[in-house]
Amino acid sequence: MSRYDYDLFVIGAGSGGVRAARIAASHGAKVGICEESRVGGTCVIRGCVPKKLLVYASHFSEDFEDARGYGWSVSETRFSWSDLIAAKDKEIDRLNQVYLRLLDDSGIELFEDRARFVDPHTIEVANRRVTAERILIATGGHPWVPEIPGSELAITSDQVFDLPSFPARVVVVGGGYIACEFAGIFNGLGASVTQVYRGDAVLRGFDHDIRESLGDEMHNKGVELIFNSNVTRIESGDSGLQVSLDDGKILIADQVLYATGRVPNVRHMGLENTEVALHAGGWILVDECSQTNVEHIYAVGDVTNRVNLTPVAIYEGHAFADSVFGGQDRAVDHRFIPSAVFSQPAVGTVGFSEDDACSHFGDIEVYQSRFRPMKHTLSGRSEQTLMKLIVAKDTQRVVGIHILGMDAAEIVQGFVVAIKSGLTKQQFDSTIGIHPTAAEELVTMRNPVSRSAQG
Ligand code: FAD
Repeated sequence: MSRYDYDLFVIGAGSGGVRAARIAASHGAKVGICEESRVGGTCVIRGCVPKKLLVYASHFSEDFEDARGYGWSVSETRFSWSDLIAAKDKEIDRLNQVYLRLLDDSGIELFEDRARFVDPHTIEVANRRVTAERILIATGGHPWVPEIPGSELAITSDQVFDLPSFPARVVVVGGGYIACEFAGIFNGLGASVTQVYRGDAVLRGFDHDIRESLGDEMHNKGVELIFNSNVTRIESGDSGLQVSLDDGKILIADQVLYATGRVPNVRHMGLENTEVALHAGGWILVDECSQTNVEHIYAVGDVTNRVNLTPVAIYEGHAFADSVFGGQDRAVDHRFIPSAVFSQPAVGTVGFSEDDACSHFGDIEVYQSRFRPMKHTLSGRSEQTLMKLIVAKDTQRVVGIHILGMDAAEIVQGFVVAIKSGLTKQQFDSTIGIHPTAAEELVTMRNPVSRSAQG
């Protein structure tokens, strides 16, 4: 009989923790899990899922306009934030129940409380001390807000899904994917939106053409973008929140949403009682098998700051459980992980950006197509789709795909298999497209522009 209460104890019931717990249990392990907030974690409760529902909601304003070009008369429309939030809450409650049932059906013991290490094998949770042979830290992260006077008046993505009333004027601070998504959401729902970012283009780290074009499209849709600017102070005034910028400009808003990055949840959980090593940035250091420097303690997901996306946390959790409890040797390959930004228009991307490919491969070929999507020939909307294919010149391997436009995420998901499998441009060319689609463009691009690391 084991001298521990559990074979595995998981701290954090989000994307990575729940998957790891379920797979370990399916391999016969006795598993306990704890959650200080709601089971489902960031993605389900206050991230991907509610965000995508709000993105859908915000698209309707354009859909009503576009319908006119197709012969529809659209009478007056009205939007109710409280109805949307109530519907969203119902769906999140349903998913939370699904997650609770999954844990229950797997025979996993759930502690609905915060956990703290007492020593490397002992966790204090729900006024109990439990011991485990192995422990998985899957505590995720939380939004980071820079300290400026009045920053407590701002909200983050943690609060935005539960605002009691719809803000007519919103200032979004940040240029990353969450900032762009919420700028699009509030703009689409009818708010007047200003996005303030300290850099000179949104989506740092993405392909430069995508960055510039998304900024242009957001501007065309009505988002006011202020680049190379920092918020220095937020004050409450008679007409709303006064947001001061470093050039002296003052913006007035009903809500100020900070989306300026996230930091790992590692504090106040007794890690000092374990000797688990942290990166200087605060996240937990792990090897390719998600093992920390303490042999029986593992970590997956955002708390390890590898690639902070739900499918990655799930994959890492699954691979950990298969390796440690299922007798399979599964390291996680973090190359060619696709991602999407549910901005308006959306971005889908996988592999190297043009500049990164140039530094990495030297000589590359860039295939690019910019066109008006067929839907907008009749809607009259000026929105453009941009598609880029990046090819390593000597091997002809396609090493990057970047799309800005309708259905970008859905299109890229299919092509990831080809990119991950190392297919060449010739193999793309030998593929027959589906007509009429936007995606067929990716197998019919013929005239590259060559670029080398020299220029
Ligand atoms: P989480 O899902 O954050 O779970 C960690 C859990 O641990 C939390 O529930 C937390 O309450 C709990 N916890 C923390 N400390 C303790 C403790 N000491 N004791 C007990 N419990 C604890 N990713 C995508 O792939 N696609 C998207 O479209 C997308 N959109 C996003 C939108 C927003 C607004 C945000 C914020 C994130 C989004 N993400 C998206 C990222 C995604 O949500 C995360 O990458 C994912 O949830 C990480 O999973 P995780 O298991 O590492 O952590």
